[in-house]
Amino acid sequence: RSMSSVTIPPPACMLRPLEAPLRYLFGPGPSNVPPRILAVGAKPIIGHMHQEMFEIMNDIKRGIQYAFQTENNMTISMSGSGHTAMECAVFNVVEPGESVLVAINGIWGERVAEIAERMGANVHRMVKTPGGYFSNKEIEQAIAKHKPVLFFLTHGESSAGLCHPVNGIGDICRKHNCLFLVDTVASLGAAPIFMDKQNIDILYTGSQKALNAPPGTAPISFNDRACHKMFNRKTKPVSYLLDMTHLSNYWGCDGKPARAYHHTGPVSGFFALRESLSILAEKGLEESWKKHKEVAGYLYRGLEDLGLKLFIPERELRLPSVTTIAIPDGYDWRELLAYIMKHHNMEMTGGLGPSIGMVMRIGLMGYNCEKTNADMALNALADALKNCKKSKA
Ligand code: PMP
Repeated sequence: RSMSSVTIPPPACMLRPLEAPLRYLFGPGPSNVPPRILAVGAKPIIGHMHQEMFEIMNDIKRGIQYAFQTENNMTISMSGSGHTAMECAVFNVVEPGESVLVAINGIWGERVAEIAERMGANVHRMVKTPGGYFSNKEIEQAIAKHKPVLFFLTHGESSAGLCHPVNGIGDICRKHNCLFLVDTVASLGAAPIFMDKQNIDILYTGSQKALNAPPGTAPISFNDRACHKMFNRKTKPVSYLLDMTHLSNYWGCDGKPARAYHHTGPVSGFFALRESLSILAEKGLEESWKKHKEVAGYLYRGLEDLGLKLFIPERELRLPSVTTIAIPDGYDWRELLAYIMKHHNMEMTGGLGPSIGMVMRIGLMGYNCEKTNADMALNALADALKNCKKSKA
């Protein structure tokens, strides 16, 4: 047999068209993408180093500055999902052997602790069960004890459905010479966050939640304190791809006259991200926060009318974008979710990480955040509760 003949035939699946059903994405993300954003994602590709692309990236930067309420120059989007931003933050500001403090009240703190451990940080964990939260006093005591260079907190804990208070923590971090890193992947656009006013040193989010863009890009911003730490390190960050010395140049944030090739950014993903930020700018942050709160409140009433119990008892601590329900007694949550998917073409999900088996989650984010969608979700749940027989637990 000659070296040039193929021995692996074309796979049959590749000869069939792609199947991607239209589905109600009422889980914790990705969320449904509005036609306007889908449309820009289908525009012709331009070069990632063309002047038009740089203009689009400059616009994205301004859009993120608005969404984060920050004037930080070092504001970019990652080429990658929320995890890319988590790794970028940790890899760039922490050096091996340095102390990091992580607040864990769901899966996201666990993930960041693991990321920091993998790059050789000395990780200290503050742990609460899902749905728990930390007082500023507890946080200050732990910071004083472990003297971390970085403290991590999840604003919108999507695995537990908790929106953690942030006020005052940035000041505590400053007092103890520690950087404050906040995850708003699940909360940005749905619950208020003010990066500059709240003294948050590093903030990131994801494209696929309340921003309603497709998954695959992740805005992140560093203030001057964070820049000072990350650009005065002794060692290079472990990741070439996520090194902010390169990314800041690619995004035109380093003051150099020219941008050099580092990696090929996701051109269509950036088009879509720009459109999603432009929708948020048109609508306005306050309006978006108000809408999420209203629709969430409407959903809470409907859930309680169905006899369901909300997992987070304190109403003001509930994450408006992702609502967690305690699993109703005697039901198998997997069966309920499978029923809803099968009969209503609708995604809701179970817990994640430590909240598995504790909660079911309904996400109504951005474009999906409408009372009519809450009604559909409630109707599907009511139907599932009626038809999924109670197990004899
Ligand atoms: N943080 C939070 C709070 C999230 O909800 C998610 C996504 N579920 C992530 C981080 C990770 O984002 P991604 O899946 O885009 O990597």
